Amino acid sequence: MSPIKPDLAAAVGGTPLIRLRRASEMTGCEILGKAEFMNPGQSVKDRAALWIIRDAVRRGELKPGGTIVEGTAGNTGIGLALVGASMGFKTVIVIPETQSQEKKDMLRLAGADLVQVPAAPYRNPNNYVRYSGRLAAELARSVPEGAIWANQFDNLANRQAHIEGTGPEIWEQTQGKVDGVVCAVGTGGTLAGLAAALQPRGVKVGLADPEGSALHSFYTEGSYEMPGNSITEGIGQSRITANLDGVAPDFSWRVPDSEALPIVFDLLEHEGLCLGGSSGVNVAGAIRMAREMGPGHTIVTILCDYGTRYQSKLWNPDFLRERGLPVPGWLDRAPASIP
Ligand code: PMP
Repeated sequence: MSPIKPDLAAAVGGTPLIRLRRASEMTGCEILGKAEFMNPGQSVKDRAALWIIRDAVRRGELKPGGTIVEGTAGNTGIGLALVGASMGFKTVIVIPETQSQEKKDMLRLAGADLVQVPAAPYRNPNNYVRYSGRLAAELARSVPEGAIWANQFDNLANRQAHIEGTGPEIWEQTQGKVDGVVCAVGTGGTLAGLAAALQPRGVKVGLADPEGSALHSFYTEGSYEMPGNSITEGIGQSRITANLDGVAPDFSWRVPDSEALPIVFDLLEHEGLCLGGSSGVNVAGAIRMAREMGPGHTIVTILCDYGTRYQSKLWNPDFLRERGLPVPGWLDRAPASIP
């Protein structure tokens, strides 16, 4: 195979597995992080974006010069905009106002048209996902080159990216010596894809659910309880999306921010890994799985996106303090900007 990638799409995936030293030492397990922040758009969602675009092209729905419309917490939009740009497509992104400024800025840089809507639950017709579906239908009628709705929550091309990509990569990189995989859910594409690819090979699957999400109570009690809330972005879910259909996790935990954030801070301070909050929830889940399985197991989790995307929140002592969240000493001492 040529070492030269023909385009950006070919540079999506194939991310390294990085041993997480402190989590491994603490548990006596090998805890490995799949470095999804090393994708071209710096998140795991580049994979879903690429599979969704390719699938729409293959089916003849997305034609040259066409527009991709999506409701996204940001990362899928960045993936769609970048991969889309490399293939000659336009993107229109509907995003809740509450998402980080850095992600919105990056979306604009990547050439997306941004529509910001107030954060609203899924049952509200103006929820960002439902809004994006209506907008896609309107644009499909009015734009000459046509438009598609990426619909990452219910479009199964999303989980297919992990069935064909992430899951087999983890199997090959560990040479089949993997006992468990753990991750949080936004759309469920990653969890469902890992489950489909790896559960039949005897790998246990764990859900790490943030506070404010209903999935932990659904999988453990069959109810939809959503206690608490979280500053993490891109994860948490109130319904069983089409991507999650049929998923049966072997383990499930509800991980509070007070447990996940110190892990994010420690990974930067001691292991040089600059990550977003969802990676902290995932590593916390991997540590919980290690404790339940006992020493000697290999557990893989997902390092979902790069931390600079959250400069104004996760790495902002005032933001954290206002919410009663832990602030590491070194972050408090770090200058906010260089004079
Ligand atoms: N972490 C981050 C930062 C994300 O943006 C997302 C996607 N929304 C996820 C995790 C969850 O991935 P998935 O959609 O595959 O469940």
